[in-house]
Amino acid sequence: MYYLFDIQRLSMENGPGLRTTLFFTGCPLSCPWCHNPEGQPDKPVLFYFRERCIQCGNCEYVCEDEALDYDPETGPEINYNNCTACGKCADVCPTDSLLMSVKLYSVNEIMEIILRDRPYFDRSQGGVTLSGGEPLAQDIDLLEVLMKEIKREKIDLSIDTSGAVPRRNLATALKYANSFLYDLKHVDPVKHKEVTKFDNEQILDNLIWLSKQETTLHVRVPVIPGFNGDEEELEAIADWIAANTAPETIALLPYHRHGSDKYDRLGMDDQKVLFNVPSDDFMDKALKVFLDKGLNQARIGGAILASKAE
Ligand code: SF4
Ligand code: SF4
Repeated sequence: MYYLFDIQRLSMENGPGLRTTLFFTGCPLSCPWCHNPEGQPDKPVLFYFRERCIQCGNCEYVCEDEALDYDPETGPEINYNNCTACGKCADVCPTDSLLMSVKLYSVNEIMEIILRDRPYFDRSQGGVTLSGGEPLAQDIDLLEVLMKEIKREKIDLSIDTSGAVPRRNLATALKYANSFLYDLKHVDPVKHKEVTKFDNEQILDNLIWLSKQETTLHVRVPVIPGFNGDEEELEAIADWIAANTAPETIALLPYHRHGSDKYDRLGMDDQKVLFNVPSDDFMDKALKVFLDKGLNQARIGGAILASKAE
């Protein structure tokens, strides 16, 4: 069984063509700009959509962990320090005001969803993307079962990874994947560690290794003013890419604030950091940095033209 926090169908920014994207929960990084914070823990977490609550009282007495205080006027207050994410309150909530962040799926359930979209894959040279969270932080033997099944159906497979994974996991995915979407956030080890709480040595080493393998590589750089958006920082990233890898495409992904309200709904407000959203002009200048380094495969945004597919 697989813990997924979302399945997006017909997505256009997660690999070539139209994709069905599976979002696995659990990520070794803690990027404060993450727009899917529910994908960071490797277990379910409780969402509370306060505005959906109709004060029906169903959840009043179900919590056995002293994590839910009920007020008939306003509905529940969640004490996330005590919440064990048992899901009992979500089970009785008629409005999905209380909602668990992930669902468990079997291989067969996932394949049934994927196969509904085969006509779109065929027409757009699309396929399936494993994303997250970090798909390669899963039990790799279990993930291999799913990758094998997707390839048995002759469906294009992309892996969207942070690269913060054991080499063995990357090598296993390489046996099945047609392409990789590889995030590169910063080449400065100190800044990377300070902000994402994870060393970038393994990420850079894995990217160099992957560049030498038979696969199609798409590097994705989130552009985040205040983290990696200075001209010198973008230049350093562009220089590193030019020196160490030759990706088919380089996507500069402008930071956005969609999903920032999720931190409050998950009791993760202490991890929420808002950065400045880059303007179009800012992104044009960022792109110029890459083009000036001869990286003509760079562009703004994550869509990959189907003609770039294998
Ligand atoms: S998920 Fe479980 S522990 Fe958390 S508030 Fe609901 S009932 Fe209590
Ligand atoms: S069960 Fe849901 S709708 Fe009913 S009081 Fe609790 S949170 Fe509100």
